[in-house]
Parts: sequence; C-alpha cells; structure tokens
Amino acid sequence: MYSNKTNNLISLAFDEYIDLEKKVIKNIKRHCYPICSSCSDICCNIYSCNEIFKSKWVKNIHVYSNNDFNSTKLKRTIKSHFKSKIQKDGCLFDFGRPPSCLLFFCNKIKHNMKSKFANYLLAHLGYLIPSLLEIRVGRKKITNIDLIKNDGINIDEIVLIRHHIKKAKMINSKINTYLNKSKDSRYKTIFKTFELIESHSELSIQGTIESL
Ligand code: SF4
Ligand code: SF4
Repeated sequence: MYSNKTNNLISLAFDEYIDLEKKVIKNIKRHCYPICSSCSDICCNIYSCNEIFKSKWVKNIHVYSNNDFNSTKLKRTIKSHFKSKIQKDGCLFDFGRPPSCLLFFCNKIKHNMKSKFANYLLAHLGYLIPSLLEIRVGRKKITNIDLIKNDGINIDEIVLIRHHIKKAKMINSKINTYLNKSKDSRYKTIFKTFELIESHSELSIQGTIESL
C-alpha cells in the first residue's frame, strides 16, 4: 500500500512521537507524582484506560511498539494490573496514554504549583500530545488517526507531522526549564517560553487557559 520510503517515514514519526510522549510524561510526573502517590482517592479508572481504543492513533502506537498487541490482551492487562500498578507508578503506560488522561490535572496538583503561570505551563504541557492529534493544514484536518487508515497520506503530510513533533519537543524542554528554575531567571524564561508557544500557532493555547 505505501512505498518503502513512506513506510520508513511513518515509522520515524511513530518513534519520534513515542520519544516525545515519554519526555512529556516524565516532566508531568515530576509535578504530579508527589501528590498522586499519597492520594487517597485515585482518579484513574478502567474506563478511562480503555479510551486508548477510541483513538486509532494511540491504538496504533501500541500496535507499532508491541508486535503481539491486540485489544483483548491489553484489556486483560489493564484489568489484572490496574490497582497495583497505578498505586506504584501512577499510570499503566509510559507512552500511548489516552489524550484525556494527559489533559487532566486535579485541584490538588494545581494548588501545589508555585504560581499561576507555572500552572498554565503545566496545563500546556498536558496539551502538547493531544494537540498533535489534531494537526491542521489550512482548513484540512490531518488527524494522526488518518495516518494509518487513509491510503492517501503523502510524504508532505508526514513531514509536517514530524515538524510539529519537533516543535512540541522544544516547547516541552523550555517549559521544563522554567518549571525547574529558581526565581532569578523567571522573567527571562517566561518571555522565551511565551515566544515559543505563540510561534507554535497550531498548538492553540485556548483550551489550556480555559482549564486553569
Ligand atoms: S490526579 Fe489528583 S485525584 Fe487523581 S490520583 Fe492524582 S492527586 Fe489523586
Ligand atoms: S492515567 Fe493511566 S492508569 Fe490512569 S486512567 Fe489514564 S491511562 Fe489509565
């Protein structure tokens, strides 16, 4: 169906997406884990985990990274390890999380952040991965979901997806720098982070602001 060149590019896009998501999750975890690990009312539930099966892209990430992946097997794993794994690590997945899980920060976590701006950046961090699932070119929406399903994906579209992943990677690293810096460098870093976010026009900040 696809040429070798296209297949190789799709594989690269998957690898880069997985690498990015791992990095984003690592940064998010730094701020959530201290709170989540002592939470007496864990918000995860098996229905939210099963959201994986609602996104073709996320599902394909699991197919790509795990040759013997199948829905029944994953559902069984989710069911059998659910409680123990969540209590130990906070989530069953290092990547390929349902977008809704990446977007959610409870009030306990928000209140623990050092400032309103830090909260804004954390929310934006959570939005980085889900925003990649809705990449647009002009009025045309190329959701990554179409990547596998649609035989018509062309090299330009894959190049664009990889370009967005690269930008998201830079934003992730800038936000992380700010969130871990002392007050002295605050304003300089804030300015640079804003500049980068604003230049990343497709990663709309609207939803992030609303979620504050
Ligand atoms: S996100 Fe909030 S409610 Fe959910 S497990 Fe963490 S601390 Fe608890
Ligand atoms: S954060 Fe992880 S364990 Fe919790 S509901 Fe989402 S996918 Fe499941």
